[in-house]
Amino acid sequence: MTADADEPTVPIVCSECETTSRIPLSEVADAIARHNDRLHDGVDVAMVDPEISEAIADLAAEDLGLLEDG
Ligand SMILES: [Zn+2]
Repeated sequence: MTADADEPTVPIVCSECETTSRIPLSEVADAIARHNDRLHDGVDVAMVDPEISEAIADLAAEDLGLLEDG
C-alpha cells in the first residue's frame, strides 16, 4: 500500500490482557485509546512499553509533534 515499511513500530503492552502488540508509531495513540476504551472502560491499562517510551517520546516530539496531544 503506502510507506508503512518506513514507519517505526512501537511495542504496546497491556498488563491485564497480557498482550504485546507492535503498532506503527502514527497509530499508537489511537490504538491505545481504542483498546482501553473497548476492553478496560477507558482505564489506561495498555501503554507503550515503558522501557522505550522515553526514546519514543523523543522521536515523536521531533518527528510528529505528538507532545501537543496531552
Ligand atoms: Zn487490555
